[in-house]
Amino acid sequence: MSAPQPAGGELRTLEANLRLSQSEYFLRRSYLRSMPRMLGLVLGNACNLDCPHCYQEKNGDNLLHPVQIGQQFRRELLSLYPYLSTLRVQGGEVLAYRGFREIVEDVAAVTRRPLLSISTNGTLIDDEWAEKMVRLPFSSATVSIDGGTPETYAKLRRGSELPLVLANVARIRKWKEKLNSARPELDSFFVILRSNFREIPQYLELARENGFVDVALQTAEFNRVNSTREPVFAEQEAIANYPGDVAELYALTRDVLPRAREWFRIVRLSGLQSLFEKHGYDASFLRERENGLYPDSADLSTSAEGSFELCPNPWTTLFVAENGNVHLCFLAEPVGNLYEAPLVEIWNSPPALAKRLRMIRGAYMASGCSSRWCAWREGQAASPMKAKAEPYIPVPVISEDSAGLPAVRRMLAGNNRRLHEAEQALRAMDEEFQRMRRSILVRAAAHVARKWERVKSRMAGIIARSR
Ligand code: SF4
Repeated sequence: MSAPQPAGGELRTLEANLRLSQSEYFLRRSYLRSMPRMLGLVLGNACNLDCPHCYQEKNGDNLLHPVQIGQQFRRELLSLYPYLSTLRVQGGEVLAYRGFREIVEDVAAVTRRPLLSISTNGTLIDDEWAEKMVRLPFSSATVSIDGGTPETYAKLRRGSELPLVLANVARIRKWKEKLNSARPELDSFFVILRSNFREIPQYLELARENGFVDVALQTAEFNRVNSTREPVFAEQEAIANYPGDVAELYALTRDVLPRAREWFRIVRLSGLQSLFEKHGYDASFLRERENGLYPDSADLSTSAEGSFELCPNPWTTLFVAENGNVHLCFLAEPVGNLYEAPLVEIWNSPPALAKRLRMIRGAYMASGCSSRWCAWREGQAASPMKAKAEPYIPVPVISEDSAGLPAVRRMLAGNNRRLHEAEQALRAMDEEFQRMRRSILVRAAAHVARKWERVKSRMAGIIARSR
């Protein structure tokens, strides 16, 4: 049995949304009439493993609990599925959550497109899940493997064994072969630490041998949670604190990357550019601008190499964390919380508009972007309309039959959008003005202080001479 094909109406909805999204990105709109193409859900933070570098608070937060709220949340999600290219679900360990099965069934009930993608530690992929992943609308599965040898892997993925995970990956491959399906595609994720970075070449070999088509290398995040839970580990493993290791990682990456780029469709990188540049290295060979984590955005790139003049994520992505926080990018600060407002409202809420506007102006850090991974973008304002494709500007068709309430609503929605955008643009200008004013005041105060010092010393001289 091959993967089911999507119906025509469904494809038209998806296509129309993608074209609208593309034109809004190139026109640098902050209020979006297009819906997100990529929805990321961190269902919970509970996990069957105990990885020392895990940055999540293990407090039991779960988007599907309590059950009644979980059901309502699932209903809200249903309205977004027709527009999505990807529904990315992760945990903790997603296959350990009771409600995940229902989400899979919801998706299968409304669409035949393979839009489900999961991130998993790979330990719970039994034969039943392996078959489901091939039969149901899964597009990809990312398996976290933070070592190139069983020993290092077991040390960092506490509670798991590398052979077990690779055997589970093989189950999926077996079902793909059996059902003659190209999906789900398998990719892998490697978190870079001091104790595992020398194994990157082995890891890449291993990923290649086990059928992974893409790999991602990302520097570890040490935050309040893992630094408190594992203070010694955090101190020992944070590569940025050890210039000698950064130099070694730099040389190793330069050596291995060209080879890896031949083996995999894409080698995604995140955090290395900021790390290397901070230590004074030329990081242009990484091509992180093209190979960063920009899901479902290929049509928004403005160069043949696939780079993005303006980071596309807030024009494509909604990401919901296990505590309900809603982000426009998995690396950025939240712009709302689903327990306060519906997801579609947050998508165009004032903080969301402000974030997009600030990013267009190049104020990435002020917009809440990640200083660890994306500081290299700061100050790069985006020029409007660098479209490689002809922009698609949708005009509502209002005929005799369709006039009435829907037409009025469309008109009012258009007005609201313009008002929102104007309001946010004013707010951004006001912030800029306040910043300039502050710096003028600071400079003026420093100037007066210098003058006062000079007057004081001159007076002291006069007094001394007159004595
Ligand atoms: S943090 Fe900001 S610049 Fe970085 S990927 Fe996310 S939206 Fe883009």
